[in-house]
Amino acid sequence: MKDVVKIGIIICDRYRNCAGGKCFRSLRKKEGAFSIYGDKEIEVVGYTTCGGCPGGNIEYAPEEMKKNGVEVIHFATGLVVGYPPCPYIDYFKKYIEEKFGIKVVIGTHPVPQKYYTMHEKLGTWKDRGWEERLKYVICDEKIRKEYD
Ligand code: SF4
Repeated sequence: MKDVVKIGIIICDRYRNCAGGKCFRSLRKKEGAFSIYGDKEIEVVGYTTCGGCPGGNIEYAPEEMKKNGVEVIHFATGLVVGYPPCPYIDYFKKYIEEKFGIKVVIGTHPVPQKYYTMHEKLGTWKDRGWEERLKYVICDEKIRKEYD
């Protein structure tokens, strides 16, 4: 029997109407941040938004996901590609890991090329720390274009 990893996804509330198309496609294709699971099956046990700035739902959603056995919480790629990216992302990650003991991975689907181009122009990701935050989702141009 295949190993199953239970994950939760938290999206940025500015994309609250998103139906999760890119996240679920990349999950199925094991692209972007979901490539880390290799042959394992992925079961989504929770999907919600941060609750809107400054992210009130970060305090509660992990507990609910924990009841469903969540092992890893992914912050959707929207948190890093938004204009501006979420300013609380590192704090949220640390908080969830410390408070709930749940691993947090930044990112879900590959960064769409249009966001990559704009953030390159803006110099958004030049500051220290962005290489690490983007490491699973920056991907190559071919894949980024598939998520435009
Ligand atoms: S920028 Fe951050 S705190 Fe604000 S809505 Fe998006 S994820 Fe939530």
